[in-house]
Amino acid sequence: MTDKKIPHRLYLPEEQMPKQWFNLRSAMPEQPDPLLAPDTLRPLEEKDLYPIFCQELAHQEMDGATAYVDIPEPVQEVYRMYRPSPLIRAYSLERALGTPAKIYYKFEGNNTSGSHKLNSAVAQAYYAKKQGLTGVTTETGAGQWGTALSEACSYFGLSCDVYMVKCSYEQKPFRKAVMQVFDGRVTASPSRATTVGRKILEQTPDTTGSLGCAISEAVEAAVTSGGAKRYVLGSVLNQVLLHQSIIGLETQLAMEQLGEYPDIVVGCAGGGSNLGGLIAPFMADKLQGKNNPRIVAVEPASCPSLTRGKYAYDFCDTGRVTPLARMYTLGSSFIPAANHAGGLRYHGMSPILSKLYHEGYMEAVAYEQSKVFEAAVLFAKQETILPAPESAHAIRGAIDEALKCRESGEEKTILFGLTGTGYFDMTAYESFLAGTMTDYMPTDEELQKGFDSLPDIPQNQGL
Ligand SMILES: *Cc1c(COP(=O)(O)O)cnc(C)c1O
Repeated sequence: MTDKKIPHRLYLPEEQMPKQWFNLRSAMPEQPDPLLAPDTLRPLEEKDLYPIFCQELAHQEMDGATAYVDIPEPVQEVYRMYRPSPLIRAYSLERALGTPAKIYYKFEGNNTSGSHKLNSAVAQAYYAKKQGLTGVTTETGAGQWGTALSEACSYFGLSCDVYMVKCSYEQKPFRKAVMQVFDGRVTASPSRATTVGRKILEQTPDTTGSLGCAISEAVEAAVTSGGAKRYVLGSVLNQVLLHQSIIGLETQLAMEQLGEYPDIVVGCAGGGSNLGGLIAPFMADKLQGKNNPRIVAVEPASCPSLTRGKYAYDFCDTGRVTPLARMYTLGSSFIPAANHAGGLRYHGMSPILSKLYHEGYMEAVAYEQSKVFEAAVLFAKQETILPAPESAHAIRGAIDEALKCRESGEEKTILFGLTGTGYFDMTAYESFLAGTMTDYMPTDEELQKGFDSLPDIPQNQGL
């Protein structure tokens, strides 16, 4: 039976959409370690980032002190087309699980990109336009980030060059078509359009591409644009977590209006941007001693950066062209097994979340993909939303917490982030339903190969 006091869906009214982002670093007792220049190993300063990011974003990247940052009015205007996003009470899932726990989820799939990534894409495109750039370049694996960025760029009148990993380009033609609707220029990577792409094609003509290679091409396209374009990234960075804080701020406000506060906050973790955004206000409460929610990151067992990675300085990309960040990492050469279909395949993790996890403020669990898709299908049937495989990691985590409550009889309040929809992942769903999906957990020896690719620098000594 539904609780009369608590509606199924709470949509905050438009005028209650937060007008500022919240910077979680401002509440941290210690800041994440600084980014290092890969050649000199010197901590980077804001101006060192200007060739890579627009100035405003470089500032946000380095600013750990400012607690609240105004969301520019043109960004708010786009947000209002799809935000505030709903906070939903999973009554039907609760009944199916027979749990006394209350389960809430914040749904970020209500926009054409189908995920939370639009929240940062809009901000990054706006600042690029404001600085007078003509366009941006990026890479995309599964395609959600490329879609979100194409949408944002088309709105602000910027060009958007997307280097899409060749196997996804071929396997997900509709993703490419959606990007093209928004004038995104999609190139299968490796391509003949860049020096690095041509070199890779010469060495390995049959390659199906990798995220690292696509990053290297996108970076080259930006730095050879004569200053007209910048390279942008959809996760991991501090600035991206800042933009995603809108998720957590809206959730906090909506829960307050319901008279609720989460005992447990669960999110999936790829590069950490949705999780960092969802937990921002709740983690701040925890750090400041105002409340003590448990915070749980869920990752795939086949790409276990938090649960089995090392806290080390590493490159943010496989092409080893970016600055070094201290984070939980599997090594930039790590690539998940070929049967892995669940997304969240990044080798590292946001430096902010890595620091918080390292200091014990956060927990992490890893699941094999068949367990994740089992949760996805149960959720779809109960709640009528077809989740992205990435999001289904959070669903799995939340379901298991709810089942623990069934055992203990505790009526806990569980909140999780439902980051997006899975319409472009039907090949993976088909394989799960046909019973052909397999699980694979890397062995310690396989992980060691990735750790061997960690930069051999004094900061990484004794790992
Ligand atoms: C990209 C993506 C993720 C993972 O990225 P984070 O930066 O870890 O949030 C999760 N869910 C969906 C739907 C995505 O598109």
